[in-house]
Amino acid sequence: MSDNKKAEKITAIKGMNDLLPQDAHLWELFENTAQSVVQSYGFQQIRTPIVENTSLFARAIGAVTDIVEKEMYSFTDSMNGDALTLRPEGTAGVVRSVIENNLVYEGPKRLWYKGQMFRHEKPQRGRYRQFHQFGCEAVGFTGPDVDAEMIMMCRRLWDDLGLENIRLELNSIGDADERAKHRVDLIAYLESHSELLDAEAQRRLHTNPLRILDTKNPAMQELVNNAPKLLDYLGEGSLAHFNGVQKILNHNNIPFTINTRLVRGLDYYNRTVFEWVTDELGTQGTVCAGGRYDPLFETFGGKPTPAVGFAMGIERLVELMKSAGEPADPNQCDVYMVHQGEEAQMQAFVLAERLRDAGLDVVLHCAALSGAGSFKSQMKKADGSGASFAVIIGESEVASATANVKAMRGEEGEHQQATVAFDSVVDYIVDHITGDGEEHHHFHVHDENCKH
Ligand code: ATP
Ligand code: MG
Repeated sequence: MSDNKKAEKITAIKGMNDLLPQDAHLWELFENTAQSVVQSYGFQQIRTPIVENTSLFARAIGAVTDIVEKEMYSFTDSMNGDALTLRPEGTAGVVRSVIENNLVYEGPKRLWYKGQMFRHEKPQRGRYRQFHQFGCEAVGFTGPDVDAEMIMMCRRLWDDLGLENIRLELNSIGDADERAKHRVDLIAYLESHSELLDAEAQRRLHTNPLRILDTKNPAMQELVNNAPKLLDYLGEGSLAHFNGVQKILNHNNIPFTINTRLVRGLDYYNRTVFEWVTDELGTQGTVCAGGRYDPLFETFGGKPTPAVGFAMGIERLVELMKSAGEPADPNQCDVYMVHQGEEAQMQAFVLAERLRDAGLDVVLHCAALSGAGSFKSQMKKADGSGASFAVIIGESEVASATANVKAMRGEEGEHQQATVAFDSVVDYIVDHITGDGEEHHHFHVHDENCKH
């Protein structure tokens, strides 16, 4: 810029967050753990586009839901006038893809996905405009066994993540005709107490009265507690299904409470609905929500395909992991390469590649044209990187074809130094990092495949 005026800063969009490096390992830990848990139940990954036709969500989610009424990021494609929407949830896209690609042709499928979702909500703790979900859909399964299996899968994930204070709430919202009967009585009941309804409830009374049961308004709790319960309207099939889910959960010692007011915000659900809830996140306490959605495939013009699924809010779960004491990862690498002089830099490059071949994470100190800086300043960087070892190569090391290997961590071996022949450095470090039974947790998480 020619004048002294500074350019105005460009900021992120409200409610849309960056994932910063200091948190990245927690996200990786969550995603890797979730992925390996669901894979252990036979789930396979599916990725669908972030943008879909608006009609997909309007039809799937239901016109009178929060999402479609006011939360969707919809826009017109300026090239061709198409009505498009940033996906607010994952199920609609997955179901579209299953139908379009005939994925259930050979039988039922267990699928998982993860990725960003977009909803135009008021940003607050645990509620963002771009957020991330990890979800599963089991498509083509009729029985209560899969519902229970999905719930148990969540339980296993909480255990693997060390999350203790997440409880399960379960309900059945029956089939469409059962809900229709209940709806008549529910509306009559709510109308007879219309003076107690807040504005939102008034608005929903004739469009989506079931959602009123979900209200967080303290003044309406008694009203909704005494409202006709959908459970009392279930027919034989729905009841048998609900009992089937409970039987399997009980048999596997999965505690739950039945919450007769639990409904889902989306129209496509039937029978089993469940939520995993915690008290540790304030009002945004639901970390996972799911249920059965047998009618959805037909809504999309597909063959009748019973299905069940859930979605987890990754932001909320990562926050729980943080408060459960999951430590911040101070380690950028296992080995930090310090060098001085052009020859030494050349050797350091070669050695760094060999160490990486052995599965180690290596940061090579970067040099300006004028040089890499003093050993002292480089060692400071080595220390800050959290590396277990610094490998130091200077003029004399080049002359003797050795490297100076310095242990940076660990109680006994701290600051222990050794002169190691250049060709033996990899073996030396691998032995010392895995050898003496000490816990070297900085052999990084993603190196699961390398020799531990
Ligand atoms: P709520 O009643 O909190 O608005 P919802 O019924 O809209 O939830 P779902 O559509 O069932 O939520 O989404 C499943 C999960 O995704 C939620 O339980 C939550 O963990 C997460 N989630 C939903 N919306 C957001 C958001 N705006 N920001 C962060 N996480 C979200
Ligand atoms: Mg919502």
